[in-house]
Order: sequence, then C-alpha cells, then structure tokens
Amino acid sequence: MIATPGLAWISQVESLCQGRGLQMTALRREIVGIFAEADQPLGAYAIIQKLSEAQNRIVAPPTVYRTLDFLVENGFVVKIESRQAYIACDHLGHDHDHHHHGIVLSCVKCGRSSEVESAAVEKEVATIAAGRCFKVERKVFEIVGVCAECSGAS
Ligand SMILES: [Zn+2]
Ligand SMILES: [Zn+2]
Repeated sequence: MIATPGLAWISQVESLCQGRGLQMTALRREIVGIFAEADQPLGAYAIIQKLSEAQNRIVAPPTVYRTLDFLVENGFVVKIESRQAYIACDHLGHDHDHHHHGIVLSCVKCGRSSEVESAAVEKEVATIAAGRCFKVERKVFEIVGVCAECSGAS
C-alpha cells in the first residue's frame, strides 16, 4: 500500500509558507488537507467536488484554480500535464529550487503517481538548456508505465 502524504506533509507546507511569508488561507489549508489524504493524482474537478461536499455548498472553480496555481507556483504540488492532475510534492524538506520537481512515475493500471529526484537528470537538462541559451521556467518529467505493486514485483 502506498502511503498518503499525511499530516507531516501538511506541517511541511505550513512551515514553508510561514518561512516565505505566504498566507495560509482557509481554502489553501483545506486543499492542502485534500492532497495530504490523496493516494492518486487529483484533477481540479475532483478537488472542487471534495470541497463542495465538505462545505455543503458549491465552491466556485476560479478560487480553486487560483489556489492550485498558488500551490504549483510555490512547488508544493506537481502538475502532471499529460493528465491535467496534481500530486503533492514529496521532497518539500529539501532546500532546492522550488520550481524544480523530480520525475513523476505514473502507473497506467492503478493511476498512482510518485515523484523521484534525480540530480543527474537535473544536471543534464541544465546543460541542454544552457547550450541553447534557453531559459527554463518549468519542467515536467513524466514516465508512464506499470508500478511495482501492479506488476507484482514488490
Ligand atoms: Zn516536487
Ligand atoms: Zn500501479
């Protein structure tokens, strides 16, 4: 069983927000809580539904999208472009550039995604970009396949 990010992840996000002087609004806290309990990538629609159920009212999509942008911009969640879905960044404790996430491994069978860091890949990408004077704003690495659990390897 793959663990969810959990309470430890929430407190990491909260302390990073505090350290950077970012405000933790009620909605931000709620959405962070939803990611903490998720073991699958979440689409914006799923998040809106969960919020609406929890609050017993319709939550306006634009406010949710703004909050997701905030979480992505600050590196707390990773957007999986190919699926238009989001996962909690699982290396928040590391003191590296918060726009640079690792490589997302997406399982086609169970739909779960995990993130791994690779200094070698980071270095290679920086070299390629520098060689073309390309200014990197965002990077998305996704590898699609079958996870260890689904292939019976674990
Ligand atoms: Zn990350
Ligand atoms: Zn799987």
